[in-house]
Amino acid sequence: MDTATLAAGLAAQDRRSLARAITLVESARADHRAMALDLLGRLDPARQALRIGLSGTPGVGKSTFIESFGLMLTGLGLRVAVLAVDPSSARSGGSILGDKTRMERLSRDPRAFIRPSPSQAQMGGVARRSREAVALCEAAGFDVVLIETVGVGQSETVVAELCDLFLLLLAPAGGDELQGVKRGIMEMADIILVNKADGDLKSAAMRTCADYAGALRLLRRRSQDPEGFPKAMTVSALEDQGLATAWSEIETLIAWRRANGHWAKRRAGQAQHWFGEEVRRGLLAVLEVEPARGVMAALGAEVAAGTTSPEAAAARLLSLLGRG
Ligand code: GDP
Repeated sequence: MDTATLAAGLAAQDRRSLARAITLVESARADHRAMALDLLGRLDPARQALRIGLSGTPGVGKSTFIESFGLMLTGLGLRVAVLAVDPSSARSGGSILGDKTRMERLSRDPRAFIRPSPSQAQMGGVARRSREAVALCEAAGFDVVLIETVGVGQSETVVAELCDLFLLLLAPAGGDELQGVKRGIMEMADIILVNKADGDLKSAAMRTCADYAGALRLLRRRSQDPEGFPKAMTVSALEDQGLATAWSEIETLIAWRRANGHWAKRRAGQAQHWFGEEVRRGLLAVLEVEPARGVMAALGAEVAAGTTSPEAAAARLLSLLGRG
């Protein structure tokens, strides 16, 4: 299928075209890559979705949350796309987030589109493919793009650089200790959702929520947050509790950020971030092909033999590249 037809399919909100387009951007083949770039160039940049990042460790209830939350949004008439950033697939070849039985009801909803993460991708590849998949979902007219990650390695950073707003899903803690959530992850969160606030777990969830609310007060970024954000709240994905409130908090935050220029500034900063990443990636790729690869191997042998210092060898290689 040619890219003009695919682009037209996206503009017509055709889900099969979207699935095909994402397969195209995931492909490592050089001819596919060229087609993907051509396709991305044909997209209407005026079409924008609300991009929501969602992170949480396995078992915390991400699938359950996305299904309930997604169905609530489609019930409001919104079109919802779900993408996964899953670096574990890069290592194991299998995907934690790719399980087809997840989110069964949402996947049958005509207003929803769920894309499991691809297997066999490098982290850099995961970032690029996710970024491009988000753009494709926007072009296909989705109102909300949920970008999910299990938060292994760098995946949270990737998601934070892709989304307009970041949700962190936590489970109720037994004790009064914050659950070893890394500070960096806390700092990315706009809203912490303590899930499973139902039945026997309800009071533990409320205690956990209060603990995190306290911790978040210290992390308020005055320049990019309205009063009261970042915030912690309890939800029950299983019993559909608190999801409408969570959505209204999201709308409040985004409306504030749009009105104050933060939304556009964040996207502009993200575009610059990805530009830098692509340049770095391209520069590294130069080292993988001739003549740089051969020169690097030869200089490496000299360094190993002790005839050239690592610094001098690096300087020689870089000066050769600079002349190219
Ligand atoms: P994921 O690994 O983060 O995607 O978590 P899942 O959505 O698969 O949920 C893991 C387990 O937690 C499942 O047994 C769910 O039924 C359960 N669970 C998810 N949300 C809730 C909730 O709101 N309340 C309760 N009690 N259990 C939940």
